[in-house]
Amino acid sequence: MLPVYFSYSENTNNVLEIILDGKDGVDWDNTPNVKTIHVNGNPVALYDPYTRGMTNPLCGQIHVHTTNSDGSYPPKTVAAKMKEAGYDFWTITDHNFITPDPKVNDLIWLCNAYEDTRDTQHTNIYNIPALYNSNNINDIITHFVTNGNSYVMYNHPDWTPQFQPDTKIANVIKGLSFVEVFNITGTTETDRAFDILLSKGHRIWGVASDDFHNDSHLKKGWVVAYSASRDPNDIMQALLTGCFVSSSGFTVKNVELVGNTIKIDTGSPTAVTTFYKENMTALSTTTGKNAEYSITGNEMFVRAVIKEGNARCWVQPYFILSENTGLNEIDASNLKIYPNPFENILSITGAENSTLRIMNVIGVVVHIQKITGVNEPVDLQPLPAGMYFFCVEKDGQTKMVKGVKK
Ligand SMILES: [Zn+2]
Ligand SMILES: [Zn+2]
Repeated sequence: MLPVYFSYSENTNNVLEIILDGKDGVDWDNTPNVKTIHVNGNPVALYDPYTRGMTNPLCGQIHVHTTNSDGSYPPKTVAAKMKEAGYDFWTITDHNFITPDPKVNDLIWLCNAYEDTRDTQHTNIYNIPALYNSNNINDIITHFVTNGNSYVMYNHPDWTPQFQPDTKIANVIKGLSFVEVFNITGTTETDRAFDILLSKGHRIWGVASDDFHNDSHLKKGWVVAYSASRDPNDIMQALLTGCFVSSSGFTVKNVELVGNTIKIDTGSPTAVTTFYKENMTALSTTTGKNAEYSITGNEMFVRAVIKEGNARCWVQPYFILSENTGLNEIDASNLKIYPNPFENILSITGAENSTLRIMNVIGVVVHIQKITGVNEPVDLQPLPAGMYFFCVEKDGQTKMVKGVKK
């Protein structure tokens, strides 16, 4: 997700229509973040935003105002306040004005940015060389995003006049990088807006921000980026690839994918973790230090929100890139292994002229064998005890049975 910008207009149903048309900074098919997991033996491709690990956390604020628009303090004073709040990196996003880095302390300046401000929509544009005057938002989009190297955040979507629950946003085409899931000057509807955009198939990341104007906004919402270094380009890369969490006062300790399971270490015995898939469908809710969810491959995406008291932490979505169609094709009526449980050697029936793949519980293929006969021996002496999935592929179909090694 990268460059791209949007135009908005009201369609005939009086619903905000946002049309993004441009580049998208993530190569969704070919990055280290794209992995293949196995669910019951069926391969599922997914995008894991935390592939590089949650190392080098850097706290950042990417929505800030000064007296160059409607903020209460001049840039240098704001810089001091950001530093005091404990932020490592920041940028200033004045309304229709690019405020340069005031350079008064060692805060990392992410990039030049501004908040494109119109009646119907506020949009932060990051990595911008200079303002471009046009009354037509499409021109601006084309100039900065399609032809340029800028990134876009859809700010406080709940403030958009046309924003109505359940009809809300009619359309957003790929390319938007961020949407605010939390904005101190916004309402609680922002998380729902994030869900709506994701459920429409848009691969975007949720950002929490202070939208700092005055002291009452400070340290209310921010991002924690896991960046390769303190170089602003690396931080931007972490943000664009989703390697960050958003916080309104609580930050998880760790998130990682093990096999097909997303494992969260909240670091707190009282934290409440809810995993969601599309349409705000809750998959599980867990109280405590550890929470996990095993991906089935039939979700569009899986994300988590962790609550600790009134504070929240938003874990970015894991996007399922290829649907797990195999799961629906399992028909084990005539596929059998025996004995089951087995010790070292078992026999398989109903699998003649197929390829047998045996996976362990985390989806790793541990044995492959061509099966020709009707009652073929399979030697599994080297495998450790445990549960295995026996998958046979035949005539384009996958069938699966479970077996247990004693
Ligand atoms: Zn705004
Ligand atoms: Zn603002």
